[in-house]
Amino acid sequence: MEKLKIAIQKSGRLSEKSVAILREAGIAMPNGERKLISVSPTFPLEVLYLRDDDIPQYVTDRVADIGIVGENVFAEKGVDISVVERMGFSKCRMSLAIPKQQEYEGPQYFEGRKIATSYPVILKRFLDEKGIMAEIHEISGSVEIAPGIGLAEGIFDIVSSGSTLISNGLKEVEVVMQSEAVMIGRDDLSERKREILNDLLFRMRSVRAAANNKYILLNAPNNKLEQIIALIPGMKSPTVMPLAESGWSSVHSVLSEDQFWQIIGELRNLGAQGILVIPIEKMIV
Ligand code: ATP
Ligand code: ZN
Repeated sequence: MEKLKIAIQKSGRLSEKSVAILREAGIAMPNGERKLISVSPTFPLEVLYLRDDDIPQYVTDRVADIGIVGENVFAEKGVDISVVERMGFSKCRMSLAIPKQQEYEGPQYFEGRKIATSYPVILKRFLDEKGIMAEIHEISGSVEIAPGIGLAEGIFDIVSSGSTLISNGLKEVEVVMQSEAVMIGRDDLSERKREILNDLLFRMRSVRAAANNKYILLNAPNNKLEQIIALIPGMKSPTVMPLAESGWSSVHSVLSEDQFWQIIGELRNLGAQGILVIPIEKMIV
């Protein structure tokens, strides 16, 4: 039986979430991390555990059909495969930073200067676009210490909270790209593999939709029902049932996480009571 092969990071910032997303999609992975390959007993999927930097090339070379990597790594490798799905985790940005006491008036700052990075391809593309000639010094790790030891006058690296920059006396001056984990894949999968991939994507989307939504139950005075229903449209429309006490109804619906607190406030102002909010396990979208 043909199986879909997915490459995920063996150990690092993407590993745990990549494994978790498969598990939540009902794809069991027996003691994965210790091996190079594991085969799911519950889904036609084979998982390859690799260094993230190698994943784009392995997918290009058909060692794996799809893979999960940071968009930054995908962009750096410049391979000719596509993003299949944005995963919504491991969000970060790729930025230029300089010593904090330096004045900065724009990217021209870097003209003729030395920049340390592990991402020379993305950096070069940015500098070329801006018409800036700078010296790119490629190092494989601890880029943020380069200015402090006199190796470079600026750095180009991953930033998330910015605390690493601050503790190294640096300031972020240009955001070059935003990144998150992405699923990458070849466009020319066999029909069977395409089917498996579609099933996998369907399951992943259901898990993510569930995580982004909450089930809400509340009691509403009937004279405010119309306004309350307008606030919580739900997947189709809310369920409304009369309470034993006349003049009141119970309303059930689904609310997305990002609107959540604002809508709860408005519901209370409209006289909603006994509001219960319940996590959703899976949501079929
Ligand atoms: P490997 O040993 O597999 O080569 P690595 O050290 O290159 O691992 P990690 O540090 O595990 O890579 O980071 C993997 C990816 O996670 C990065 O390419 C980036 O997309 C994302 N990432 C890195 N740092 C952060 C951060 N601070 N916050 C959010 N995402 C991050
Ligand atoms: Zn890596």
